Amino acid sequence: AKAQGRNSYQFYSSQLNTQSSEHMALANSLHQAFEQNEFRLHYQPLLDLKTKQIVGAEALIRWQHPKLGLVMPGKFIPIAEETGLILRLGEFVITSVCQQLQAWQQKGLPHGRIAINLSGQHFRLQDSLRHTIAKILRDYNISPIHLEVELTESEIMQNSDRTIQVLSELRNIGIHIAIDDFGTGYSSLSYLKHFPVDTLKIDRCFVQDVTTDRHDAAITIAMIDLAHNLSLNVIAEGVETEEQLAFLTQNGCDRMQGYLFSRPVPPEEFEKMVMGGKHL
Ligand code: C2E
Ligand code: CA
Ligand code: CA
Ligand code: CA
Repeated sequence: AKAQGRNSYQFYSSQLNTQSSEHMALANSLHQAFEQNEFRLHYQPLLDLKTKQIVGAEALIRWQHPKLGLVMPGKFIPIAEETGLILRLGEFVITSVCQQLQAWQQKGLPHGRIAINLSGQHFRLQDSLRHTIAKILRDYNISPIHLEVELTESEIMQNSDRTIQVLSELRNIGIHIAIDDFGTGYSSLSYLKHFPVDTLKIDRCFVQDVTTDRHDAAITIAMIDLAHNLSLNVIAEGVETEEQLAFLTQNGCDRMQGYLFSRPVPPEEFEKMVMGGKHL
């Protein structure tokens, strides 16, 4: 029994080492990633369920690592948050999106509204988030109406007074605000009453089983009704099947995104879809 205990300890500790060495490898090269220009934005189309047309996209970051290949945000966003680099990453995302929007506008591409993900830290630590965003928009001559900022429900709850103030400032200059992963934050719904928000994004965990689990179906319908009763837009994330699409359309959901229509793609591919009039 003693030997076995020792083996399992060794197994556990070596697994821990692999995990932390990958973590360390990523943490150590995250600084360089900025200098070496290793981040890329992919764009996932957002569809209007009434017109069936593309009405915008969500920008999602990827890291093209020289040794590890393509690294997904789930792996490095938490590290960026621990190390404070998330602020720099956020500025990179805003700048890249505005640069991209400028290029698209010069080509006359009807790109719609582009959503970006910001971390709660931007709202807690960066005093001048509104000025930073406003300056970047000015530099690239982009109207704020082309931008939507997504923040998760749980991050909003962590420092709601400060966050609400900054979100109101952004909204006052015309930027749309979306609550990401809605329904997963275990928060009281009453905050929505005072909250400067335009859109609720129903989390993929509800959409996934919406046609097979009557509880998920009931919750999804309730979220759509709640959004509409508060005059908010509602978008469903992670739509993968025709059945899910039909359910959401029948129940009055406004917009969708998901693999059923498209994965997140490089900007050139998004451009082709828009130019080609690809629709649902
Ligand atoms: P999120 O904001 O909830 O983004 C949606 C995630 O779901 C994306 O994963 C997207 O690729 C994936 N997805 C979209 N449609 C489907 C579908 O039909 N099925 C399935 N299974 N998945 C789908 P991704 O790109 O790996 O991003 C993961 C998370 O990383 C994002 O979740 C967001 O929280 C964070 N993230 C991504 N880009 C950024 C960024 O630029 N800044 C910050 N702060 N966070 C980011
Ligand atoms: Ca998001
Ligand atoms: Ca989400
Ligand atoms: Ca998420």
